[in-house]
Parts: sequence; C-alpha cells; structure tokens
Amino acid sequence: MTGLVDSWERQINYLRISVTDRCNLRCTYCTTQPIAYFSHDDILRYEEIYRAAQAAASLGISKVRLTGGEPLVRLNLSKLVWMLSQIEGIDDIALTSNGILLSNYAIALKEAGLKRVNVSLDTLKEDRFQLITGRDKLGEVLSGIEAARLAGLEPVKINMVVIRGINDDETIDFARLSASEGWHVRFIEFMPFGTPGTEALTTVSAQEIRERIQSLGKLEPYTGKAGNGPAKYYRLPGASGTIGFITPMTEHFCHTCNRLRLTSNGQLRPCLLDEDEVNLKEPLRNGASIDKLKQLIQRAVALKKEQHHLTGGLAPGGRPMCQIGG
Ligand code: SAM
Repeated sequence: MTGLVDSWERQINYLRISVTDRCNLRCTYCTTQPIAYFSHDDILRYEEIYRAAQAAASLGISKVRLTGGEPLVRLNLSKLVWMLSQIEGIDDIALTSNGILLSNYAIALKEAGLKRVNVSLDTLKEDRFQLITGRDKLGEVLSGIEAARLAGLEPVKINMVVIRGINDDETIDFARLSASEGWHVRFIEFMPFGTPGTEALTTVSAQEIRERIQSLGKLEPYTGKAGNGPAKYYRLPGASGTIGFITPMTEHFCHTCNRLRLTSNGQLRPCLLDEDEVNLKEPLRNGASIDKLKQLIQRAVALKKEQHHLTGGLAPGGRPMCQIGG
C-alpha cells in the first residue's frame, strides 16, 4: 500500500475539515448550552486550511469534506472550495450542511469546484423541525435541497439521525421519498455522546428501521456507485433514489475507516470518538514547512486506534460535535 497507512493497515485518503464551530440551528441533541464558541483568532484562516490540505494531499489525501458547525455560515466558503480545488491530488470536494443557506450558495459552490452535498434533515414536519432545531426553517432546507440538485451538486444525500420517540415515526415517510422524489436518504444511528440534556435520548438500530421500511416493499441491495463512506445502500423496488444505513452503534465500521478530521481551531483528530489530537494550528502560524506538517499528519495517523468504544458505553467527553466537526 502507498500513501497514508495506519497501524491497522487502513489506507487514509479522506480529510473532513470543520470550517467553523458556529451553527444557525440549535439542535437539542447536538448543541451544548450555554455555547462557548471559539474566538475569531482561534479559527483557522482559509490560507492555513489550504496549507494543511496541501500537506495532506501530498501524503495521499484525495477526498475532502467541509463541515462544521454549519459550514455555510462561514463567509465566502466558495473561495475555500476553489482554493482546495487547485491542490494537486484532491479530486473530490464535498460538503455537509443543514441546507438552510444552500439556495443562496449552491451555484457559486458548484462553480468553485464542489462536487456533492449531504444535507442533514431529521423531520419533514414544521412544528417538529422547530422543536428539534429551535428554528422555523424547514422551508429553507427543502428549497436548499432543490437548489443543490438544480446546481448539479449530485448526489444530494439526506441524512436523518433517528432518535426514539423524537422522529423515528417518520422513517417510512423519508424512505418513501427515495421513490417519489428520487431522494438519497441515509438513516444514521444516534450516538449518545453524553451531551448534557441528552441523557434520555436513545438510538434506534438500523435493523429496526430496515424492518419498518420493508412494509413499503422489499429492500434490494444497491451495488452502484453510492459513496465513499460507511453506509450500506438499498433501493425500494422501482425507486430512483437509494436508502442508506449508517450504523456507528450496532455495527461499527472502524475497520473501513479512511479518515482524519481537522477541527475549526486547527486540531487534527484521528477519530471523532477519541480525544487524541495533534496541534496543527501552532505550527501553521509559526510558518512550519510542508515537510513538518506532513510529519504531524503522519503522527495523527499513527494515533488512530483500531476501533472506537462508544458501543461499550464510553462517550468521548470533552468537545461537543460542533467543535469537532460532524
Ligand atoms: N451543520 C452541518 C449539518 O447539519 O450537517 C454539519 C455539522 S452537523 C454536527 C453533522 C451531522 O452530525 C448532522 O447530521 C447531525 O445530525 C449529526 N449529529 C450530531 N450529533 C449527533 C449524534 N449524537 N449522533 C449522530 N449524529 C449526530
């Protein structure tokens, strides 16, 4: 194997970059209260992200995903997309967004070099959207999804985090949209991080969701090109869209892990669910050479553990999701 390989023989070719810890939603299961944002000066500048990505690409990182917080609240994100698209070796730039601002930016992002977008959406009901996210913005999200499709940011994948008693009664409605609207829907098992106020929330297993959806028709495994990540894909008979399942809780996929994460304040994390971090911000600000940055990236890869232990009841503690990058 060439490029970046960790101690468990996994090839690391994917970097998730969080561009901000700020978000325009207040999802009850995601955001801690009160929110302690990083200061402006803590956040990596675009030039610093570019340099980190340049070093990563020279080691074999070829896919980048921008996330947050909500990445589209960061000013002029298209500029960063364009900068990253100029790096030799990076051939796939994607975005994870709540979709609220996508209508404003979809075309500019596409023109800058963005390939695809994942939109997080947990409910199709307006009152419930307000309850979960603290904002009355469902209409904007739906328009954003349409704008992304029209701009050619395809496939647009819709990510639903399923939580028992909160939105699990809507899984069939989401699945139905894979046939009626050609949506690519992915059901994600809720991860109990222990965020204060979320102790009572519980996961619904992918298996249970799959059984419920079978009432719409037999799910056929989908073997076409659907993504680079850990989801397993299916299709309802005759549907143009797909249905994916992401199972961090019931069937961890650490053996296929191919990623590193760069937090918005410049810490390189080997794993979402592990507190290890390698500080890239200081070296970036002190003018570190590309070779020095490469060494630090290799150190982060060497810190990757064989698997996470959330299923064993251990939450990562420390930072909320918005500070790591979802
Ligand atoms: N703002 C962007 C968005 O909404 O997609 C990117 C950041 S957000 C933290 C990324 C994703 O993480 C969202 O789909 C969110 O639902 C998911 N998420 C947050 N907390 C989670 C948890 N405890 N378990 C599973 N997914 C979670």
